[in-house]
Amino acid sequence: MTPRRILVVEDNPLNLKLVRDVLQVAGYHVIAAQSGEDGLRAAQEDPPDLVLMDLQLPGIDGTETLRRLRQGILSRHVPVVAVTAFAMVEDRERASLAGFDGYVEKPISVRALPGQIEAFLSGASEATGQASRASEATGETSRRGQ
Ligand code: MN
Repeated sequence: MTPRRILVVEDNPLNLKLVRDVLQVAGYHVIAAQSGEDGLRAAQEDPPDLVLMDLQLPGIDGTETLRRLRQGILSRHVPVVAVTAFAMVEDRERASLAGFDGYVEKPISVRALPGQIEAFLSGASEATGQASRASEATGETSRRGQ
């Protein structure tokens, strides 16, 4: 089975490495971009199954990147998930207003992330009527990090 492709847009190299490592271990194919502009290019060249998007980016921010992705670059069935700062309620409100399909909180929970991603992917395939079975990549369930 072809690994699902996750485009991670994150400007902080340490966060990017962490997320990439966790998702690769969980069996995903990770495409990394360090700015919104790079993310747009990557989505065009190498269409992902899901996008994980930091909101605070140099150049165009995550919200603007989402807006441009939705203008024909990315299928509307591909979920775009915001990465929001834990304490910033404002960030989360902005994310839902901007049309993100959901959010995960920073700091990223290494334990919870694969399950969170899987849930967003399953939601997307239900929405398009494709019954795709969740991969058995990890034994972790999607317990919420505290
Ligand atoms: Mn950032």
